[in-house]
Amino acid sequence: MNRPKYRGRLAPSPTGLLHLGHARTFWVAQERARANGGTLILRNEDIDSTRFKLEFVPQMIEDLRWFGFEWQEGPDCPDQSGFGPYNQSERRPFYAAALEKLRERGFVYPCTCSRKDIRDAASAPNAGDDEEPIYPGTCRNKNLSTLNPVKGRGPHGALRPQLSTRFSWRFRVPDSETVSFVDGNLGAQQFVAGKDFGDFVVWRGDDVPAYQLACVVDDAAMQITEVVRGADLLMSTARQILLYRALGLTPPAFYHCALMLDEKGRRLAKRHDALSLRTLRERGETPELLRRF
Ligand code: GLU
Repeated sequence: MNRPKYRGRLAPSPTGLLHLGHARTFWVAQERARANGGTLILRNEDIDSTRFKLEFVPQMIEDLRWFGFEWQEGPDCPDQSGFGPYNQSERRPFYAAALEKLRERGFVYPCTCSRKDIRDAASAPNAGDDEEPIYPGTCRNKNLSTLNPVKGRGPHGALRPQLSTRFSWRFRVPDSETVSFVDGNLGAQQFVAGKDFGDFVVWRGDDVPAYQLACVVDDAAMQITEVVRGADLLMSTARQILLYRALGLTPPAFYHCALMLDEKGRRLAKRHDALSLRTLRERGETPELLRRF
């Protein structure tokens, strides 16, 4: 049987310096690609121009190289093999096309709710620590025509009705359906749509494609066979599985890594400057030592 060759990816967002937690997850990704004789790609997730800083991109690449990462496709690679571009900021037309497909197939609806509206909705329970509140469904059954849209191309080529109100596109989750998958590291996983997570944004009100959509479009386009990432994204994986299905795409395998915690038991974040690769390097730590740690 002709099995597809293993293709893995590192997908950092240049919103801050990489820390030891990223390095650990990425190392697992690299080891798995190596063990499977596969290809590792680097994808620069710079889609959110409100959060990323341009100077973080070269720093990110330098830190990754210093730590010992070697990728075969992506930024800083001589051989571009046709699956790119690998900067999400250059891939907008692909996300716009996927949104269009979802729209045509009736999987998404426009939503005018602000974050505050959602928080204020009395019935919006919290799904968990880091998770967004479950969307109360305010705009779910509003007919688009009541917003009186004029269909047209937005400034960046996404087909969106031109309205004076800002709105996002939300994915309608199949209420009560259990989304299950077998994680390569953590075993069987189950999340119930509408209970563990609600209708989620695929295109933001400020005209930026949301992570969930960009990630699915890219992992499919780059023919990723296994996604290795942090366990904080388990529920995002469930959301993404629904997106794969809605777009008629086959999901890759998933392998979620336990998160690294600081001395107070909090998970590492980009604010943990002391454990950023850059700071560790400046302190004289060597990659060999850190890799063992
Ligand atoms: N850019 C995302 C992050 O840094 C990638 C997550 C993923 O691996 O899908 O959290």
